[in-house]
Amino acid sequence: MKKNKNKILFIIKLFLLPTTCCLLTTALIGCATVPAPSAIPAYSINGVTYYPLVSLCDLRGVEMQYDTLISTAYLSKDSKRVNLRAGDALILVNDSIMHLSYPIDIYHGTIVVPKQFKEQVFDILFPQAASAYKPAPKEKIKLRKVVIDAGHGGNDPGAIGKNGLREKDVNLDIARRLRDLLRAEGVQTEFTRSNDKFVPLSTRVNIANKSGADLFISIHSNANRSRSLSGFEVYYVAPTISDSKRAYMTAKSVSLNLKNAVISGSSQDLQAIIWDMIYTNSRAESIGLAHSLCRVMDASIDANILGVKGARFQVLKGVRTPGVLIEVGFVSNLNEEKLLRTGAYRQRLAEGILEGVRKYSQEMALVEVSSR
Ligand SMILES: [Zn+2]
Repeated sequence: MKKNKNKILFIIKLFLLPTTCCLLTTALIGCATVPAPSAIPAYSINGVTYYPLVSLCDLRGVEMQYDTLISTAYLSKDSKRVNLRAGDALILVNDSIMHLSYPIDIYHGTIVVPKQFKEQVFDILFPQAASAYKPAPKEKIKLRKVVIDAGHGGNDPGAIGKNGLREKDVNLDIARRLRDLLRAEGVQTEFTRSNDKFVPLSTRVNIANKSGADLFISIHSNANRSRSLSGFEVYYVAPTISDSKRAYMTAKSVSLNLKNAVISGSSQDLQAIIWDMIYTNSRAESIGLAHSLCRVMDASIDANILGVKGARFQVLKGVRTPGVLIEVGFVSNLNEEKLLRTGAYRQRLAEGILEGVRKYSQEMALVEVSSR
């Protein structure tokens, strides 16, 4: 009963305020009529996709008045009006009440609206004008398959932050987000672990090598005794011994399993030469991928970009496809631990990795064309 009363009061407020709001402290924001030339940022809050309202309004030239005292926004364009309030799933659309499945929210100090509002209300009420800006479609990722390796798991939690954030959970969540993004691009994915279980490094390497994937991406979170250290970095495999010696040793221990295996039964020397080629190529490609990832992340997250490093990570050492190990951030740094706890930041990291992979796949395509 009390809830209904509150609701009625809120509705009355929503109806009345547009005429009285000028008496209150109001903020007039986002009234641009020129559509912004960039895509709308999206956030994942408790698994629901949200968009900043101000960005939507900018894009469609919708006027937005925001009353900071009661966290209520008033949208208008031509004769259409929408009133909505942060924390409430009830909205007014041209003076009719509508219930959303998820409430309007505040994120990073700005009002955000669930995807349902964008699709079922905003896009219908304020459609994109025919002449409006359309972002150029992104070039599809030209990779067939990617193996995603979420570091640690099960009884191996990896690094643990001061406030209890466990590396294994962060890694798996980003891995899942990356999988969804890659699938949406039509790229097949395979996990080395899909849940919270312990998988030995040798098994991870085997999964990667049997997968026939074009890329191997291992996701980790960092820790350091110095709590001030923070940032994003990418490692590629650095050989511990000369590539040719390593190739010879591999040829001795593993027999090449190539399609149309003209070399099956051939000498170990010949196999070593082929392994040498595989190692040299995949290392160069791994470095290329690592640089693409850092360039994209530099533009998309505020974190320090610590750069590309070579390392002798066991998980990368035996992997024959181009591969990188990404340290997405430091759980030992209080600020980064807080960020890494949020779905929105993990989503941005996953999207950044996706764009790094896209850049890499474009560069690889260029190399292929120019070497023809
Ligand atoms: Zn780790």
